[in-house]
Amino acid sequence: MRIRSMVTFVLAVLISLAAAAYRWGDSSHAIGLLSAKGGKARHPSFLVSGWDRYTQITTATVLPPYRGDVRVLLEGNPPLDYDLRLSGPVVDLGLRRLPDFRDDILYGVQPGDRLAMWVLMRAFPTDPVCGMSVGEGDLATTYQGKTRRFCGEGCLASFRKEPERYHGKDTPRGKYNLAFYDTRTETSVLKVPLIFKGKEDSHASGGHH
Ligand SMILES: [Zn+2]
Repeated sequence: MRIRSMVTFVLAVLISLAAAAYRWGDSSHAIGLLSAKGGKARHPSFLVSGWDRYTQITTATVLPPYRGDVRVLLEGNPPLDYDLRLSGPVVDLGLRRLPDFRDDILYGVQPGDRLAMWVLMRAFPTDPVCGMSVGEGDLATTYQGKTRRFCGEGCLASFRKEPERYHGKDTPRGKYNLAFYDTRTETSVLKVPLIFKGKEDSHASGGHH
């Protein structure tokens, strides 16, 4: 779903920042330096697996003498459905020149630019047993508050027998990168690690079965 109006976008920005401040786990922020030497992320961005949607914001400053066009993409497995948005830093929204951002390419990046790149991610709905893509209308059941869909009766039966074995298997886990590449040289000018951790990695399990 495209967010078309600026008002909606600014609202989304504020809500996401509030969410990040309260550490909801489905949103995260990172700060980076974009440079011809490969750039540098100050720290990885941590996200908690198991949500349907995630938001990550990278604020990057462009170091001189870098100048060029930059392709932005999210690298990692399983692939996530994602959308990228560009804004200036929230504090001076609209007051600075920004590169033109079209088709995931930042055109005309120049020294001193400060970019806030928003990554709006969505887990592809997949059958947790066999990994097939599924959609509305497929067989479904609800487990721990989350609707799970299945390609057929066999997978649904397997899930019902051992839900804990399959639950969460299709969610992003481990390291992804928000990657920025110079379009002329194809070299990396910044990589921001996005680390997805399972809920059980962040708290000790209560041992419920
Ligand atoms: Zn299946």
